[in-house]
Amino acid sequence: MAEIIPADPAYSARAAVPPEPAPGNETGNAIEARGLRKVYRASGGQPAKEALRGIDLAVPRGSIFGLLGPNGAGKSTFINILAGLVIKTSGSASVWGFDIDVNPRQARAAIGVVPQELNIDPFFTPAEVLELQAGLYGVPKRERRTMEILRAMGLEDKADAYARTLSGGMRRRLLVAKAMVHNPPVLVLDEPTAGVDIELRKQLWDYVKSLHEQGTTIVLTTHYLEEAEALCDTIAIIDKGQLVACEPTQRLIARITDKKLIMRTARPVTPEMAAMEGLRTEITQSGALSVQYNPLEASVMDILDRVRARGLEIVDISTEESDLEDVFLQLTSSH
Ligand code: ADP
Repeated sequence: MAEIIPADPAYSARAAVPPEPAPGNETGNAIEARGLRKVYRASGGQPAKEALRGIDLAVPRGSIFGLLGPNGAGKSTFINILAGLVIKTSGSASVWGFDIDVNPRQARAAIGVVPQELNIDPFFTPAEVLELQAGLYGVPKRERRTMEILRAMGLEDKADAYARTLSGGMRRRLLVAKAMVHNPPVLVLDEPTAGVDIELRKQLWDYVKSLHEQGTTIVLTTHYLEEAEALCDTIAIIDKGQLVACEPTQRLIARITDKKLIMRTARPVTPEMAAMEGLRTEITQSGALSVQYNPLEASVMDILDRVRARGLEIVDISTEESDLEDVFLQLTSSH
């Protein structure tokens, strides 16, 4: 973590973020990246690491955008570059039309990041946390919305309680509140539901949706396909520092949600019997026949007919969704 840039005390949000994108941002994208690369230098015996290998990505204004990828894919690196916390190696990026090299202050003022860790100073109250943050961003006293934000996050009655008395869920909401203090048009939530129970996850999703309805562009990083599917209108998938897909959610889900049909048969299946043109088949360790198929391209009935036509009597049948690992394999192998 050697490359964290310290907060700029002279930093002012006031002049920064007009409601419309900066001149020159005719595309109206909230975030744009072109050929974005990051190589972490070797340090402490660790070799150099190319965390981003040339990412081209546009997040349209007004979207709820999912940045999906397994651990180590480069999601945090991407976000931290946009937020001015990590220095890119090459390529370009802009937030709300402000190039992070040309207008770094405006770019930083246009984005709020809710970090993964629940790090909150235990000796400050939520109201104090927000006031301090507002001070850091140069938001003038008369423009501060401390109580309004706390109310929106369901923390009004905790405004003056010590942060150490807050539950995990309340701390998470306080972090969202903190990221909203300077009223950024783009809010990034980094793995917001990692280690969060189901009840709170639903609550957080509701908050995210209401912020979006109020006009905030949301970027959500997650390694849960299910979470991205439930919330996001567009999903980008990165793996090993490369973009492997970026599509409207429904289209992507339809394309990647292969299913598996697992059939136990009365007599053993031979490899010759298992081979079926156009379908990925295998014989499982327990001797069952597994057929992977895309529901858009093949129907279960057809598959069953083809199995029976091989003289196989099916005695038991079950289905499985492919998991995220299968999805990455599928996308990266076809890329
Ligand atoms: P994600 O957020 O998708 O889990 P990260 O952006 O955190 O991925 O990490 C991408 C890769 O870069 C990983 O291999 C990680 O180990 C490496 N990495 C992240 N931060 C640093 C750092 N400060 N120094 C060296 N390597 C790093």
